[in-house]
Amino acid sequence: MARYTEAVCRLCRREGEKLFLKGERCYTDKCSIARRAYAPGQHGQAKKKMSEYGIQLREKQKVRRFYGVLEGQFSEYFEMAARRKGITGENLLQILETRLDNVVYRLGLGTSRPESRQLVTHGHFTVNGKRVNIPSYLLKVGDVIALATKSRSSEKVKAISDITGGKVVPKWLEYDAENFTGKVAALPAREDIDLPIKEHLIVELYSK
Ligand code: SF4
Repeated sequence: MARYTEAVCRLCRREGEKLFLKGERCYTDKCSIARRAYAPGQHGQAKKKMSEYGIQLREKQKVRRFYGVLEGQFSEYFEMAARRKGITGENLLQILETRLDNVVYRLGLGTSRPESRQLVTHGHFTVNGKRVNIPSYLLKVGDVIALATKSRSSEKVKAISDITGGKVVPKWLEYDAENFTGKVAALPAREDIDLPIKEHLIVELYSK
């Protein structure tokens, strides 16, 4: 399965924002953005004036990196969003939020989206009782996500719970911590998505 192999902290430095790709480390002073808040590379500290196109492109790249989605899949999501009723930019974020790997992260069953993606790929989750190992699986209202019974007592899961215990689950999801089970109670509204995203810039980019 295709995935990013570039050192993930470089992605944050490229976007000039924390993308929270490394779990616990992102909240400590070891975070690369906290230590070197400029783009990687030889000219990373040079001040550059960006064109309108450049600003739109960076916004799209940032969102792709937040969710760990490759270019082709991202443009498929955009087309899907444009076909849905409502505001295309908001539809796009709604689609990204309902990916299985993102929901696992939002429920606190992974410390970061990349880790959640890996846990899904390794077959640790079921959806409506059936094992699903596809991180991009799109969930619907009413779907029930559960940590597989065999995985519940693993050391890895205990370590994750120690880090994410007490995490506030967004209101469009329900979580039963005792049974490691979550449910999609509703589709997320724009105000439920707490990421610093200007989705209209992405819509403008794809409308060119
Ligand atoms: Fe980004 Fe986390 Fe690395 Fe900081 S520690 S630069 S937030 S991935």
